[in-house]
Amino acid sequence: MKAIVIGAGIGGMSAAIALEKAGFDTAVFEAVKEMKPVGAAISIWPNGVKCINALGMKEPLRALGGNMAFMAYNDAHSGSTLTRFSMEPLVQQVGEYPYPVARAELQAMLIDTYGRSRISFGKRVTQVEQTEHGVTAWFDDGSQAEGDFLIAADGTHSVIRHYVLGESIERRYAGYVNWNGLVTIDEAIAPADQWTTFVGEGKRVSLMPVSDNRFYFFFDVPLPKGLSEDRATLKSDLKGYFSGWAEPVQRLIERLNPETTNRVEIHDIEPFSRFVKGRVALLGDAAHSTTPDIGQGGCAAMEDAVVLAQTLASHSLGIEDALLRYESRRVERTKDLVLKARKRCDVTHAKDAEVTAAWYADLKNETGERVLAGMCDTIEGGPFG
Ligand code: FAD
Repeated sequence: MKAIVIGAGIGGMSAAIALEKAGFDTAVFEAVKEMKPVGAAISIWPNGVKCINALGMKEPLRALGGNMAFMAYNDAHSGSTLTRFSMEPLVQQVGEYPYPVARAELQAMLIDTYGRSRISFGKRVTQVEQTEHGVTAWFDDGSQAEGDFLIAADGTHSVIRHYVLGESIERRYAGYVNWNGLVTIDEAIAPADQWTTFVGEGKRVSLMPVSDNRFYFFFDVPLPKGLSEDRATLKSDLKGYFSGWAEPVQRLIERLNPETTNRVEIHDIEPFSRFVKGRVALLGDAAHSTTPDIGQGGCAAMEDAVVLAQTLASHSLGIEDALLRYESRRVERTKDLVLKARKRCDVTHAKDAEVTAAWYADLKNETGERVLAGMCDTIEGGPFG
């Protein structure tokens, strides 16, 4: 049995590795000639880590991950700590650590595990067709590939989603812009072993440790869509948006490199419940695009990959049946993640100012118990519990 995998992002590579481990042949086709992941880093929560472990990359992932022993929220202007607590109860409950990792390094780990030279780069799929025996994918260079089934991990702008759903779906602007990048750890900005977030005015500034003494940082600002983007003014833009914020935030803006800082308008997609058409299955952001507010988009793609391979490996009623079983195991889970993230997004970014003000007030009384319980609930909904 041969799978055609479209897209060499987190979803496509996890799927290809999982399918090979389950005994399938795979061929991966990626549109770009060279991978340049959007975004500096990503937090892999224990549900995602357990998937990576199951795919045989436990030690390489640990080597890339930062030590996020504590979590804290600070007041935007005074910088004072609203709440600070250990992540250890979460680790104890779910049985694994969370790992913030640099995206390029995660991507390289996945690609190298699969075999870089085995991936066909510069192959943008334009069309797919299927018969009762197999699937054909056509690429923009006129070439084609054939397989028994096809996994579409072609991301949030998926062209294969249209083929599966029979309609185009508009992405929904979530109402805020995110800037993200990496800087050398500076304890005058935040402790090296802590996920620190400054909150106020419906904005946030967050820092997570990744390997090699670096912070993954991000800034969120509620803004209209489509404002012009200019690296030359990136620092002064951020200084304006965060004027009056605490000293560590000003220091972070001074330290960041505008050339390697990404600016992303955050979107999601209204959850839908069809991931499969015959021998073609959507996976990762192609199937469910979420805002990053609970850090679960990539983790969900890893979960998809593991469940897909498990389901296909035990298929006795044929590929089409197995893919439908994959769909039924993933639709509710991923819908839940997208809607949870959307809810969190609205509270964090002051969609309703009163709700956000109440959240800021609650943070002063937070012992960590409620925050960690919510995270554990999300994590334990994954395929490994
Ligand atoms: P992608 O990573 O988009 O990969 C799709 C691949 O398909 C690309 O390489 C693309 O070039 C290729 N492709 C596209 N079209 C075609 C075509 N026609 N033919 C061939 N190839 C094609 N998730 C987390 O788990 N934790 C986080 O902390 C987190 N933080 C985030 C922060 C931000 C700012 C953003 C924007 C997202 C974040 N996410 C996070 C979400 C995560 O990045 C995505 O969910 C994840 O990258 C999805 O992987 P994917 O493989 O499905 O899609």
